[in-house]
Amino acid sequence: MNTTVAERLATVRSEIDEACRLVGRDPAEVRMLPVSKHHPTERIREAHAAGYRLFGENRLQEMAAKHAELAGLDIGFAVIGHVQTNKAKLVAELAEELHSLDSLRLAEALQRRLDALGRRLPVLVQVNTSGEPAKSGIAPEEAVGFARELGRFDALEPRGLMTMAVNSPVEQDVTDCFDRLVAAQARIRDEVGGGWDDLSMGMSGDYRLAVAHGATTVRPGTAVFGPREY
Ligand SMILES: *Cc1c(COP(=O)(O)O)cnc(C)c1O
Repeated sequence: MNTTVAERLATVRSEIDEACRLVGRDPAEVRMLPVSKHHPTERIREAHAAGYRLFGENRLQEMAAKHAELAGLDIGFAVIGHVQTNKAKLVAELAEELHSLDSLRLAEALQRRLDALGRRLPVLVQVNTSGEPAKSGIAPEEAVGFARELGRFDALEPRGLMTMAVNSPVEQDVTDCFDRLVAAQARIRDEVGGGWDDLSMGMSGDYRLAVAHGATTVRPGTAVFGPREY
């Protein structure tokens, strides 16, 4: 891409704002979490200079390395990928948010580590709204029970729900995923209690649709940082 990170951030942000206006939402309700996974810290520095401070990462070793490289800057990381229970320590130590809480075992491990550190961690529960076996997350029908159980873990602050929609050219299939997340949130609010405000949904290919369907956090990676090199 010929454009700079700052320019792409501005483009994505203005498209989020436009998507809000189209459905009568206030753009201030939607935050953008740029996903920096597989991109060097130089790109994160550029985004930071453009006013962003929280970045999405899905691999903990990579997050830890970047955290060390960027020490001294006011930069934080949101973990957006599946976390193995034996990696809870890194999340407890380094993450500012976890968007991919998907088991009570992980909740337990995090609680133990956070207690030891005297920290609390904002968490979003990942819901598998597409039913694809390759995707992490609890089933939508489990959301209420899971939310209830989370009440036991006082080091975890439930902030909302996260999903990855199916990658499909059929718009309806994508928006069905977003609508299932919204419905799960409504059931939790009805049956467990208020809060759970954050709906983290929408990636580079579908963030405008996600905003139209109620996203409060969108997670563009490629649209901001360009293609990832593996
Ligand atoms: C990689 C990733 C993204 C960003 O994907 P793009 O298609 O590059 O925007 C968003 N959310 C999650 C959970 C991811 O793993």
